[in-house]
Amino acid sequence: MQMQVHEEMDSIKKGLQGILGKNVSFSIAMEERYSADKSYMKPQVPIAVAFPSSTSQVSRLLRFCNRHRIGVTARGAGTSLTGASIPSKGAIVVSMEKMGRVLEINIEDQYVVAQPAVVLDDLNHRLEKHGYFYPPDPGSSMVSTVGGTLSTNAGGLRGVMFGSTRRWVLGAQAVLADGTVIETGSRTLKLSRGYDLTSLLVGSEGTLAVITKAVLRIEPQHGRMGSIVAYYDRMESACGMLRSLRNAGMPIITAEFIDRRSMKYMDRKYRGQPGYMVIIGIASYSASLAHDMRLAASIVRKSGPESFYATTSKARVRGELGSRKRLFDAMAARCRESGLDMVIGDVIVPPSRLCAAVREVEKMAGRYGPGAAMFGHMGEGNIHLNIFADLGNRKHAALANRLLNSLGEIAVRHAGSISAEHGIGLEKKKLLREELDAIHSSKEIELMKGIKKAFDPKGILNPGKIFD
Ligand SMILES: Cc1cc2nc3c(=O)[nH]c(=O)nc-3n(C[C@H](O)[C@H](O)[C@H](O)COP(=O)(O)OP(=O)(O)OC[C@H]3O[C@@H](n4cnc5c(N)ncnc54)[C@H](O)[C@@H]3O)c2cc1C
Repeated sequence: MQMQVHEEMDSIKKGLQGILGKNVSFSIAMEERYSADKSYMKPQVPIAVAFPSSTSQVSRLLRFCNRHRIGVTARGAGTSLTGASIPSKGAIVVSMEKMGRVLEINIEDQYVVAQPAVVLDDLNHRLEKHGYFYPPDPGSSMVSTVGGTLSTNAGGLRGVMFGSTRRWVLGAQAVLADGTVIETGSRTLKLSRGYDLTSLLVGSEGTLAVITKAVLRIEPQHGRMGSIVAYYDRMESACGMLRSLRNAGMPIITAEFIDRRSMKYMDRKYRGQPGYMVIIGIASYSASLAHDMRLAASIVRKSGPESFYATTSKARVRGELGSRKRLFDAMAARCRESGLDMVIGDVIVPPSRLCAAVREVEKMAGRYGPGAAMFGHMGEGNIHLNIFADLGNRKHAALANRLLNSLGEIAVRHAGSISAEHGIGLEKKKLLREELDAIHSSKEIELMKGIKKAFDPKGILNPGKIFD
């Protein structure tokens, strides 16, 4: 039996090396590096890590894996928070890191063509020179990749104005499980050509195909940006302020809230008064920024904050957003120092229900001993509840899990969803089923499974994610 396993592994090794040459690793150290993501889910060591450098290599690799029924988990930067980039047992990780080039910047037609490992911040630095930018902006933009963000339909700090990634993908090149290469979508700003397979690939968490190229829509940069940081005692006042800004037609590009517990992990100068911190970004054309900021500041003043300030200094605006982007890592690091794990909840409700939902979440989290802290993309009604827990301790783990479930229930009760932008991965399979049951749409899982079967009949692509 042992002998047979060795022989099998040897033949897999030879096959992979035949396709990838030196671009495949079987070293334990390397395999361990690719066994986990940024979630708290249990790591799984892959049997190999492949580093293809072209679409044709990905195609040959998948054909081989399909023939031998070897699971394949594509990987960008590995920042998934739901375990989506953790391989299944006996699978290989396909790291896209050697496919990291921007292939075309077409300003006239407003798109770029990028390989999957292009990092979002790098793409935006390249576009800055042309006066353009690519809007999706997750907190992990300094490392997360085009392939990973497409596959999770990532949102982020500009979601209130620009929505999630799906809106910005015009087309993709993708390799199916049997090695077939498809080109979905187009390079045009509109398309009405039957089923929209590009949109289907977005958010599919590597379960339908491996994306090897993406055509992304880009936007002209707004002239300038200003921000307002306000501190409120009551979430109701903060929500009222945002509603008034919206009604006044303010160009709000960012609207984040950070609760008292989370504020402790912001850079020192932003730690403020009790209650809630709100960061509002206003993006205007240069000529109108001063006017927009005056109007926004007067609306904020009327909403009764404990204190607030407004700025148009580029450095200060960057500083505030940077501190917000570092919040998750700062919190996770502090948890680790105290020997705890951090479970991050990601739910969404319609903006009009945000206040009521936050109140319920606070009440529930207040009863949870080890502590939890909340922040979120307020403009879209997106709440992140960060639950501190010693997951090695059964009792703690069960409590944290119960809290996560209750968070989902609150969101669904408020006409929202258990997942806003982090996907389903390994973590939320049960919650997905429960949400669909609750809204009387369980049939959707069957339809999703049918789609999966059409793309990947042998089930080799990122097995065990979204559903079993
Ligand atoms: C500090 C921090 C802040 C974050 N903030 C946000 C936020 O504000 N908004 C948000 O939406 N998310 C956020 N996230 C979650 C995460 O960064 C995003 O989900 C991001 O989209 C993942 O990108 P990645 O390159 O790391 O992908 P990975 O984690 O490597 O992969 C994610 C999924 O995509 C699949 N995949 C990767 N590449 C390909 C490919 N080429 N083809 C097919 N499938 C592929 C993987 O198999 C996996 O299922 C944050 C995470 C961290 C750690």
